[in-house]
Amino acid sequence: MKVKSFAAFDPTSPLKPLHFERRAVGPSDVQIEIQYCGICHSDIHTARSEWGPASYPLVPGHEIVGKVTAVGKSVTKFKVGETVGVGCMVGSCGQCASCAEGLEQYCVPGFVGTYNSPATDGTGHTQGGYSSGIVVDQNFVLRIPAGMDPARAAPLLCAGITTYSPLRHWKIGRGMKVGIIGLGGLGHMGVKIASAMGAEVVMLTTSPKKADDAKRLGARSVLVTTDPDAMAQQAETFDFLLDTVSAQHDLTSYLNLLKREGQMVMVGAPEKPLPLPTFALIFRRKNLAGSLIGGIRETQEMLDFCAKHGITADIEMIAPEQINDAYNRMLKSDVRYRFVMDCQKL
Ligand code: NAP
Ligand code: ZN
Repeated sequence: MKVKSFAAFDPTSPLKPLHFERRAVGPSDVQIEIQYCGICHSDIHTARSEWGPASYPLVPGHEIVGKVTAVGKSVTKFKVGETVGVGCMVGSCGQCASCAEGLEQYCVPGFVGTYNSPATDGTGHTQGGYSSGIVVDQNFVLRIPAGMDPARAAPLLCAGITTYSPLRHWKIGRGMKVGIIGLGGLGHMGVKIASAMGAEVVMLTTSPKKADDAKRLGARSVLVTTDPDAMAQQAETFDFLLDTVSAQHDLTSYLNLLKREGQMVMVGAPEKPLPLPTFALIFRRKNLAGSLIGGIRETQEMLDFCAKHGITADIEMIAPEQINDAYNRMLKSDVRYRFVMDCQKL
């Protein structure tokens, strides 16, 4: 299938149009005409080679929703015409202990990323969702629940699952005080999902002007993290913190918010390693962990959970040629709260 796309050609130039050929539909493949693709901060980190040298030209995008236009002869899970999603992974070994448990994101030899991964089909490296179409193995395709707005569903495929998975893993629910750090794409999903799970959610932000939005999204209250007095007042009161910050920041002031033995989880992945505030952990036996997206089974569970609770993303729709402006606005923390590319306009 010939597709149109937007691609990064090097770490610094603006993204530009690229035409290329997707692989032919194999027996287990689903061909998708992409309608919408969310814009994740990971796309920027990767396009700019912040996480290591990227393979160019690179088509980012791993929050994909579209319609099935063809299926391979052994495909049983999807039919032509269905609305489906693709997230951050398009393959994994299928053999290791993690894959056996449905935790493909922790595949021991490594999962195949939707973009910037070596392709197993001879096309070089994988190319993502800022494009008009994609071909994906049926085992990495998700069902978008009936009635869910497809554009607002797209960001669930990364921002949704990346926040849902740690909230589920650490059994967030009623009676827990949970802080979501950073009100961007991930953070706004984290607030919605954690409050739907029954927790008392506090939005931790550097942007006081986002406070009203945070409450509308489900936060009980807002803590401006640049205000040392406000931070001191809430010291040692949180059960759980989810850090979605995309840039350098000092963890000490956040760790001080946790109760004794409280849990902080990093999902934000800044370019450079953060210094570890050892004393802030030692003195109250605190826990610091990381979490990576979520497995395919859990991603479907998250989509169904969101459908049940009426949760989708708050989006700003962009035309493909606005992608470079969208990147610049995200770098200024100016997004309400996820850009979504209308790929039908490619
Ligand atoms: P985003 O929409 O740009 O949001 C990031 C938010 O972080 C900003 O809106 C801002 O919120 C806050 N922030 C930015 N700079 C800050 C600073 N210097 N200090 C404190 N807060 C700051 O990004 P995103 O798409 O949600 O992604 C967030 C991070 O998660 C990225 O690093 C991304 O690569 C990573 N990620 C990880 C996974 C995973 O599996 N672990 C999956 C997807 C994305 P306020 O204005 O509210 O302060
Ligand atoms: Zn992402």
